[in-house]
Amino acid sequence: MKAHVLIIEDEQEIAELIQLYLKKEGIDSFLADSAEKGMDFLLQNAVDLILLDINLPGKDGFEFLQQFRKTSNIPVIIVSARESDEDTIMGLAVGADDFVSKPFSPRVLSAKVRAFLRRSLVFSQDERKIYRFGAYILDYDGYNLKKEGQLVALSGREFEILRLFVDNSGIAFSPQDIYDKVWGQDYGDISAVSVYVQRIRKKIEKDYRNPEYIKTIHGKGYLFPREKIL
Ligand code: CA
Repeated sequence: MKAHVLIIEDEQEIAELIQLYLKKEGIDSFLADSAEKGMDFLLQNAVDLILLDINLPGKDGFEFLQQFRKTSNIPVIIVSARESDEDTIMGLAVGADDFVSKPFSPRVLSAKVRAFLRRSLVFSQDERKIYRFGAYILDYDGYNLKKEGQLVALSGREFEILRLFVDNSGIAFSPQDIYDKVWGQDYGDISAVSVYVQRIRKKIEKDYRNPEYIKTIHGKGYLFPREKIL
């Protein structure tokens, strides 16, 4: 299965450069030079990942992402010259999964893209594609979580953490396990894991302080109870 990436970037030179790097990795990509064109493209085509610029003519990257997260959970990496903390927080709040700052190193960009795609390709070989729990349906192929037919606005990373739990219900994962599997690196800020778990709980649990799906197992980590899977 070949991966497809959409690059939303108005500077043609940068867009083509990214496209070239991805091509070297054997990844096909498509270009859109505005958020509006990106949206139109996504109505007709399925992609595995989006690389998103922030400063765009018309709608900016944040507006795009806010709108896009109402319809999809696929991973989005922001590629931007703006790198203030405020932008990072804003990006995460509207559902970005990672950031690459311009001028970017091709190696870093490729590594981040590969980390996301590798996981989605590995996961997609699983036998079971759809899981149900409570009023939720988690669909691997569609890369989305729905509650009573409505998409739950998870980022790609949040979706992957939840997928890890659901796919391995009854098994406890330590923050380090989760970091290794979902971030695809064995170094970095492990404390991000608890922030993400909390964020997912707020989106799916009736009472996030007393979770029924993502349980805390003291001294072990987190666990999705097997009996919750329908
Ligand atoms: Ca730009």
